[in-house]
Amino acid sequence: MWEVILKAFQSTPFAAVSALVAILALIISFRAYSFSKKSFKRTRTSTLYSDIEARYMDLLKLSINEPDFVDPALTNNYPKNFKDRKLLLAYEQYAFAAWNIVETIIDRREDGELQRTWDPVIKEENRLHRAWLNAKENQHKFKKEFWDFMLSNNKFFPCLSSEEGKEECSCKRCNDLRTFVKSKGETRIERRQSEQRQLDAPK
Ligand SMILES: [Zn+2]
Repeated sequence: MWEVILKAFQSTPFAAVSALVAILALIISFRAYSFSKKSFKRTRTSTLYSDIEARYMDLLKLSINEPDFVDPALTNNYPKNFKDRKLLLAYEQYAFAAWNIVETIIDRREDGELQRTWDPVIKEENRLHRAWLNAKENQHKFKKEFWDFMLSNNKFFPCLSSEEGKEECSCKRCNDLRTFVKSKGETRIERRQSEQRQLDAPK
């Protein structure tokens, strides 16, 4: 490329000018491209935010009318505490809506800012509705990636049967879920371990 430019300069002044113009145009269009890429990313992130935010607000509004649905003393044993059939169904729908939002957050979590903003929400919904999530009949409502995330982040979003800060939960339900996730391919924890082994390997 450089030789072509030099040659152009050495020949006629007109060719030199047009080469310069071409180079400038190239620089400008590259700048414009990277700028629009950045602004696209910014717009996309803020759309994601307002989308999740709106859904979460709706959920909170619902809980104002049904404060029992956000009382862990009741939700942690919801089949026993919500004896009325309609109330039980309503709670189950509520918990599903809550975890559905969490799944969306997890899907888009590679965005660092999203992580900082919404991790406290995952923590709170986990504290309130983990019993519902652990019920076997709800397993099919979420993707493998979601379960993988929950199991590998037990430290931050612990299972009801696990102590806080424990890397993995060893209750029967979590073991079953692990088997399910493994049957679909490598898990997050396995991937993390093999990456660590590669880092530790002598060079
Ligand atoms: Zn568990």
